[in-house]
Amino acid sequence: MKISQLLTAGRPLFSFEFFPPKDDPSAADLMAVIRDLKQLQPDFVSVTYGAGGSTRRKTLELVTRIKRDIGIEPVAHLTCVGHSKTEIRDILQEFTDNGIENILALRGDPPRGQTAFVSHPDGFRHANELAETVARKGFCFGVAGYPEKHPEAPTMEEDLRHLKRKVDTGASFITTQLFFHNTRYFDFVSRARAIGIQIPILAGIMPITNYSQIQRFTQLCGATMPVSLTEELQPVQEDLNAVSRIGIRYAAQQCRELLQKGAPGIHFYTLNKSRSTREILGHLRGLRDQGTSSLLRDI
Ligand code: FAD
Repeated sequence: MKISQLLTAGRPLFSFEFFPPKDDPSAADLMAVIRDLKQLQPDFVSVTYGAGGSTRRKTLELVTRIKRDIGIEPVAHLTCVGHSKTEIRDILQEFTDNGIENILALRGDPPRGQTAFVSHPDGFRHANELAETVARKGFCFGVAGYPEKHPEAPTMEEDLRHLKRKVDTGASFITTQLFFHNTRYFDFVSRARAIGIQIPILAGIMPITNYSQIQRFTQLCGATMPVSLTEELQPVQEDLNAVSRIGIRYAAQQCRELLQKGAPGIHFYTLNKSRSTREILGHLRGLRDQGTSSLLRDI
């Protein structure tokens, strides 16, 4: 089923993101995590696309297994990194052949060891170019949005102009980068609406489970953490249980407010673990079935 159909349900969507496992034992573990999270009835799950090497093939394998063996609708991430346009068309054909209907069209991050994105000589330079091809092939697709601006964009205005360009290729939804300040999300949505972006903007939430890891992630993607949250985490950083408990409580509060104020969906960056997402959703019982407010949903 296409995510665009799910988005007409008039209630918030819940989705979980996974990355492809490195080896067979981790693949078995991940399938168990996804089966476990299926009980939470996610509307869809998404699988990231690596910067190179064998993990890329694993995205196709994993989305196919999720759809066929587990019975959850998958979204396959796809990036422009290292691919010619012909390779992209071949990959899209493979997705179609395996019954995959939904794509998240991305430019991608540079491979490990490289600092800047360099496009393939016969490839796409930006996500909007990939999105055009994805649209032409008949997929339902989403694109990425940045409530705190993409790190390479000189200004928010410019980033939003490029976002509009991606959306205008026919995207059905935007999934945001992780954020910890809800005000940044609401502001982003208002600014997007003001320039004519009307599709649903799903809020990307990463439950904190490891202090040094979240410091690294936020530095890379440009998300900021409230000082009060950092101050709470710092003294207990060696105690992973304590860090997870704080992460769960914080994310649950964030999600509660997002849903109460009409966010059309929450996308959980699960990091291939189920505990935090499970507990956060436990805190949100009752909010799942409410309608979404007109400010933030598809108009
Ligand atoms: P773009 O939309 O191309 O934007 C990149 C930069 O270029 C921005 O600064 C933008 O303002 C600017 N720009 C955009 N279009 C143009 C244009 N036409 N002309 C000039 N400038 C332009 N990375 C992975 O490698 N694999 C994944 O699976 C993955 N999944 C992700 C999922 C989500 C929900 C998010 C938010 C990010 C994900 N990323 C992933 C990271 C993403 O690839 C990076 O953030 C990357 O740096 C930008 O990707 P993009 O699709 O936003 O690129």
